[in-house]
Amino acid sequence: MKTFTMTLLAATALTVPATVSAAELREVMGTVLTAPAGPEVINAKCDVYLAEIEARRTALVGATGGASIDTTLVNFDQMLALINAGSGEFTLYQQVMDTQELRDAGADCTVRLGAVSSAIGLSREIYDQIAAIDAAGADEQTRFYLAEVISGFERSGVALAEQERTRVQAINEELSQLSSTMARNIAEDVRSLRVTPAELAGLPEDFIAARPVDGEGMITLTTASTDYQPVMRYAESDDLRRRFAEIYSQRAYPQNDEVLRQIFTLRQELAGLLGRPDYATLILEDKMLATPERVEALITDMAEIARPVAVRDLERNMAVLRELRPDAERLEYWQTGWLSPKVQAALYDYNPQETRQYFAYDDVNAGILRLTEDLFGVQIVPWDTPVWHEDVSAYEMRDGDQVVGRFYFDNHPRPGKYTHANMIPIYPGTLDGDIPVGALVQNMPKGDHSTGLMEHSQVTTMLHEFGHMLHGMFGGRQRWFGQSGITTEWDFVEAPSQMLENWVYDYDTLATFAVNAAGETIPRELVEKMNRARAFNQGMGDMTQLGYSNVSLQFHQNPVPADLGVAARGWANQYLMVPMPDWVQMQSSFNHLDGYSAIYYTYRWSKVIADDLLTRFTTEGLRNPATARAYREMVLERGGTLPATELVQAFLGRDVSLDAYRIELEKGLN
Ligand SMILES: [Zn+2]
Repeated sequence: MKTFTMTLLAATALTVPATVSAAELREVMGTVLTAPAGPEVINAKCDVYLAEIEARRTALVGATGGASIDTTLVNFDQMLALINAGSGEFTLYQQVMDTQELRDAGADCTVRLGAVSSAIGLSREIYDQIAAIDAAGADEQTRFYLAEVISGFERSGVALAEQERTRVQAINEELSQLSSTMARNIAEDVRSLRVTPAELAGLPEDFIAARPVDGEGMITLTTASTDYQPVMRYAESDDLRRRFAEIYSQRAYPQNDEVLRQIFTLRQELAGLLGRPDYATLILEDKMLATPERVEALITDMAEIARPVAVRDLERNMAVLRELRPDAERLEYWQTGWLSPKVQAALYDYNPQETRQYFAYDDVNAGILRLTEDLFGVQIVPWDTPVWHEDVSAYEMRDGDQVVGRFYFDNHPRPGKYTHANMIPIYPGTLDGDIPVGALVQNMPKGDHSTGLMEHSQVTTMLHEFGHMLHGMFGGRQRWFGQSGITTEWDFVEAPSQMLENWVYDYDTLATFAVNAAGETIPRELVEKMNRARAFNQGMGDMTQLGYSNVSLQFHQNPVPADLGVAARGWANQYLMVPMPDWVQMQSSFNHLDGYSAIYYTYRWSKVIADDLLTRFTTEGLRNPATARAYREMVLERGGTLPATELVQAFLGRDVSLDAYRIELEKGLN
């Protein structure tokens, strides 16, 4: 702790050092608290981060020798590293610590770091120094980095005259308040539905048994996903699903319509202050697709490919629906989730339960690590380090003598822990010997065949999240923290993970670890069946996603509509194969309208890139180490040092095209 105090003193002393040494940084970042005695320990570490950031800020703005790469940009880059590493580390505490107090302390620090981060983004003092750096003679990656940093500052409004800058700041503060309000409205608006036990026919017995019958013989369901999802999938009653879909689709309505109206209005004003015609234009500038026109073209082109496949999907759905509901004229909005597994069973003879016996957690865990070793020629060994819970394991990834990265697996549920799956980067690597650290936080079953059987979808999720980890590790040797690991464009970030998902649909890979309790390897025919079933409903699913992408884009390109629900349904239904009924108010609980604003398309665009990247593997061999090495070197290892478009071009030898997406989707026509 000595170093921290000294740095803090340096920040307030009269002579400000031009840079703070990287050795000190290493004492702050990358080492997690594994057994904090109380929230004060987490708070104290947060103070250290903030003090380190402040030390560098003071050095940056107070430098007397003029701006330079070796002082100004180094300080800026280290501030960024501290903010990013700190956000990761404290998010980890928020997600995994044992008590609410400790988790809250983690959350509080992420808020404090967020506030510092936006203050830096709007600091004219910092911007002026950065903009004064003479980059002539710097290497290409440094010039690219500097250009990106400067354009980021300009988009934040920092270069504006003072009055306008003040307004931008006020708008940002308001937007961040509205963002919390929107999320809170969704979380708090839990609606309920009273049903008779008979209406729950079709649901698993343990689901029904866990829900008590009240004095009037009724069961109360709520819009929490633990009730909603099973009911929409398994309940045989169309009427129940329709009533449930109606209340579910109106969560946070009408209160969030007002919130969204303010968000859209403020974003439009922000775009205007920055001289852009609309918010979509502004938000897209630093993305791969770059302009609203290109996003619109993507949506249109993808829909042209997806629509005929979706028509075929709909026909298949209808064929099964007519057997189950002889008088059905069309597939209804509240029937799709319930019908899909029935079609998979009827037409593809595929039952996800059949594959489950081959995926014991322990085997899957080992299998994913071994796949990484086989593909990328690395070695993964246990990392001897303290952990925060007995369920957590730690690994070190080596390439010969070099340590590529270190990571934690916190993969099993426990009370109070984060309930989804994500990868948290904790420490960005550099060429100077900073070794990347990350954590996978998930909720997978635990153990061998007796306790740890996983759904195939869970296996896919685990490999997907681990794909983000690999990106962070392999991309972790850069000169600048700000270009390390997953610092690529937002609309590229999911592509490597989405591509990697294909390996758990590959028989040769599954054969290395997917065995049942009797030791029998997963049958090839079952893997083939699984692949055929995978292709089903992709057309309809993509049309839905394109509809949502259109909603997200249009709200940020047009004046705020008089009725948000009418507008949202109109934009979505241009693409949906099963249109939303008039009672759907999807906008109010569509939190992505806040978090993703105009760029919900990124999910589908990442899929397009992933399908295209995969073509080189399907041609040269999914388990071909030379291809994997080329991919590692040309894409993953470049981190954020080049525009993603150039990474993909380098690996494929051409621009991204929709051809691979078309071929992938049209598998659903067979
Ligand atoms: Zn992901």
